Amino acid sequence: LTLEDFDVVVLGAGAAGMMCAIEAGKRGRSVLIVDHAKAPGEKIRISGGGRCNFTNNTARRPTSCRPIPKFCVSALRRYRPKDFIALVERYGIAFHEKTLGQLFCDGSAKQIIDMLLTEMDKAGASSCGWRPSSRTWPRPRPAFEVSCRRPGGCASLVVATGGKSIPKMGATGLGYEIAQQFGLGSSRPVRRWCP
Ligand SMILES: Cc1cc2nc3c(=O)[nH]c(=O)nc-3n(C[C@H](O)[C@H](O)[C@H](O)COP(=O)(O)OP(=O)(O)OC[C@H]3O[C@@H](n4cnc5c(N)ncnc54)[C@H](O)[C@@H]3O)c2cc1C
Repeated sequence: LTLEDFDVVVLGAGAAGMMCAIEAGKRGRSVLIVDHAKAPGEKIRISGGGRCNFTNNTARRPTSCRPIPKFCVSALRRYRPKDFIALVERYGIAFHEKTLGQLFCDGSAKQIIDMLLTEMDKAGASSCGWRPSSRTWPRPRPAFEVSCRRPGGCASLVVATGGKSIPKMGATGLGYEIAQQFGLGSSRPVRRWCP
């Protein structure tokens, strides 16, 4: 197994990385997720007090979203809360609504992790427990090189290593370091939802 065997390499097996792997796999890409945590989706496991507040029934179409407004608005408009609810329903995961439209599993957040892992399998995405370093840099476009246990290049790289909260679950500042290498700032996103 080398990075070169895959069309897309995703750094980080959290909610964002797994969803990305699923969607890329559905589009016929071979995908590898690289993560150093002992299990995927560790933050999902503790989210919502262990029941995962997986979406919100009252979220409306976004009208603006920084720092990449066009991409964010278009992505959020094309994958809506109702799409995720439909997925959860297909897996027979029971859920309930709390205040302000928050949807929680009746059972455990682990059901959401298992659902995402199954969807990854179905989409043909693989994962491995490697630790990429911050030495991730652009090669002559469009390829990227990732330094990890088996360093290599890839045509598409997704950095989904999340924020820095809860380091004991695997959180690091790798995403921020990589953003800096590409001259990107890390401004707080601003969200505005229209009714
Ligand atoms: C206590 C708590 C409760 C929460 N409850 C909810 C909730 O109910 N509903 C909700 O919507 N949100 C909730 N959140 C927020 C939610 O968990 C996060 O927004 C979401 O999980 C972030 O997903 P992510 O994929 O961006 O990042 P993460 O879940 O942080 O995933 C990043 C992944 O990257 C990996 N990684 C990081 N650095 C490296 C590295 N250097 N090398 C290899 N791998 C690396 C990590 O191991 C991790 O697996 C909660 C958060 C916390 C802390």
